Amino acid sequence: MKRKINIRLVLIAILAVIASTISTTIVYYSLFQRQIRNDLSINAKLLKDTHYFEAADVENMDMDLSTDIGELRVTWVDTDGTVLYDNDASATELENHYDRPEIKEAFDTGVGEIVRKSDTMNKNTFYYALLLDNNTVLRVSTEAESIWSVFIAVSPMIVVIVCIIMVVCVALSHMLTRQLITPIETMAENIEDTSLEPPYKELVPFASMIRKQHADILSAAKARQDFSANVSHELKTPLTAISGYAELIEAGMVDEEKQAHFVKEIRKNAKRLLSLINDIIRLSELDRTEKESAFERLDLYEVVEECMDALQLNAKNRQVSVEFAGEHCNIRGNREMIRELTDNLVQNAIRYNKVNGSVWVTVDGGDSPKLIVKDNGIGIPLEEQQRVFERFYRVDKSRSKATGGTGLGLAIVKHIVEIHDAKLELQSAPGEGTTIFIYF
Ligand code: ADP
Repeated sequence: MKRKINIRLVLIAILAVIASTISTTIVYYSLFQRQIRNDLSINAKLLKDTHYFEAADVENMDMDLSTDIGELRVTWVDTDGTVLYDNDASATELENHYDRPEIKEAFDTGVGEIVRKSDTMNKNTFYYALLLDNNTVLRVSTEAESIWSVFIAVSPMIVVIVCIIMVVCVALSHMLTRQLITPIETMAENIEDTSLEPPYKELVPFASMIRKQHADILSAAKARQDFSANVSHELKTPLTAISGYAELIEAGMVDEEKQAHFVKEIRKNAKRLLSLINDIIRLSELDRTEKESAFERLDLYEVVEECMDALQLNAKNRQVSVEFAGEHCNIRGNREMIRELTDNLVQNAIRYNKVNGSVWVTVDGGDSPKLIVKDNGIGIPLEEQQRVFERFYRVDKSRSKATGGTGLGLAIVKHIVEIHDAKLELQSAPGEGTTIFIYF
């Protein structure tokens, strides 16, 4: 970054120096040109006013202006263009000047003016021609540096200035970058400290995004830690029971009568272990699942209906009635996940219900398809309603365990809802029942 700022600053400075040199040279050169033309016209008018040329004897010319005005070339042209006098060359050697634009203009309008480039690039000749009273033309001219040679003349100066500016720029950019970067580095070192305002307002979105990501990473790490601790704890309980019962049987400390009960306990705990492991595996699979993976167009009603038979059987065992209604509607989703979601929600509605309770499962088409699972069971207290979606969180732990719950069902549901970009809403009142809406 420092290098980039350095290079850019130096480049900008060089460009600025070159641009300002070019523009000032052009401006001054045009002023200079105007001055020369002005001087020439004054000289010509002065010479005209002396009436020196009108009075001169053309036959016996002995004028010599070169000693006095060496810088100035004076040419006197007759009415037909013949050069009568030139202080720089012998007049007789010069060709007819009638065709020269400035002379022609002077014959026509009284005054003629032109600037001609010399053969060499670096000189310009300025001409000013004036019609005298006897209809001859007097032309004065002078040579001056061309704009190109002015540039060449100032170029060493430009090089020196550019060098000085480069040194100044490098020093300045060092200072500037340090000033710019130090607050950013301080912020980066103290990213957790939310009281520290980002040094520049342009950095506010960036800082808040980084802080959010940082917080997310920390909370994800904590969630993973908590989850591992919970998993170990949850797995340990049934395993301890299994191992304990097995040890007792092995030691022959259990009589025939109790043996059957112990074996049943072992089987129950093993089953619990299995469902726990299944749910844990399922959750980690869902964690890895990309959104829209293996999505297809499905009829929500049909998928839910497919789950109903097994659930009806379960409900009957618990003396709960399940009613299913709704209409066919299409969604984009994963068939297996929708089944799991339905299964978990309806299982909960049956499990956390009372004898002769009811469960209503509805698939609603309408503007946006939704699945509604409603029960008139024990309900969830308001303060627990957010937490039930956490992994291993249960309102009534013993009831959950007694009914084969793992505490992971709603966590799986939440995950599936997220993968489907759906929305979940829970309405519940203790003693009255619970309704869960899933909007696709
Ligand atoms: P579990 O396997 O224990 O059922 P879940 O994640 O499915 O775990 O649910 C978490 C907790 O939310 C349950 O232990 C239960 O206390 C509560 N819960 C879930 N569904 C209902 C419901 N329909 N009625 C009342 N309580 C419920």
